[in-house]
Amino acid sequence: MTAVLPLHVEGLAVSYGDHEALSDVSVSISRGEFVGLIGPNGAGKTTLLRTILGIVPPKSGAVSVAGETGRAAARRVGYVPQRHDFAWDYPVSIEQVVMTGLTPLLGWGRRPKQEHYEACYTALRHVDMLDLRERTIGELSGGQRQRVLIARALVRKPDLLLLDEPFTGLDQPTIDLLFDLFDNLAASGATLLMSTHDLAGARHRCPRLILVNKTVIADAPSAQLNDPEIWMKTYGVGPDSSLLAGVGVSA
Ligand code: ATP
Repeated sequence: MTAVLPLHVEGLAVSYGDHEALSDVSVSISRGEFVGLIGPNGAGKTTLLRTILGIVPPKSGAVSVAGETGRAAARRVGYVPQRHDFAWDYPVSIEQVVMTGLTPLLGWGRRPKQEHYEACYTALRHVDMLDLRERTIGELSGGQRQRVLIARALVRKPDLLLLDEPFTGLDQPTIDLLFDLFDNLAASGATLLMSTHDLAGARHRCPRLILVNKTVIADAPSAQLNDPEIWMKTYGVGPDSSLLAGVGVSA
């Protein structure tokens, strides 16, 4: 019997009106993988994440998450939005924010039960923020905010965690700690797909990379992506581009 994959995308095409954002995208991710999704501005990374989330409908092709399709698939996904998409000036605690990850289960206005608090504390423990749970979110650093959003996405124990550019605006030590966190989550069985513009970081720390530019240009273990042509094709740059040195390949 074949194992049910956390993510299976087959022959996906997505258009916004007449504009084709993605075509013929096929990707499968196994449990416990930590995969980087990279490509230039406008390559379709966010579109792919939004299609997996069920927010953007495919023109053709299929998406399944843990063997489910449609709304059932979307319920299996934990989504970590970009930090600036979240209202940090609300006077609420970390714990309250993480608890909102359970709203689809709890419904609005229902009081959480012991099991919900336990799920919340487990998620906070995963991101090393349990001791700070009563802090107001406005007081947090960028790295701590990112961890709160990750805990909120983890609280329902998703089969697939989608991260949309988690490193934007963070300093290198904070990025390194987040990479450590993602490694640990994957080692404990979580499955992560992360879009990022941190090419050097992704190349060194994501075990597998998917390079996209409207379609999949390459999908391989990071250590095997040594051919500069692949990077030039993905980013539409020439052999003199500093991008190649940045990812450690030279033409
Ligand atoms: P970035 O790295 O800049 O965030 P991206 O790889 O995430 O880019 P997308 O945001 O998925 O790329 O955009 C892919 C293409 O689809 C772009 O040409 C973009 O202009 C277009 N696009 C994205 N969202 C919409 C929308 N809501 N309506 C129309 N076109 C859109």
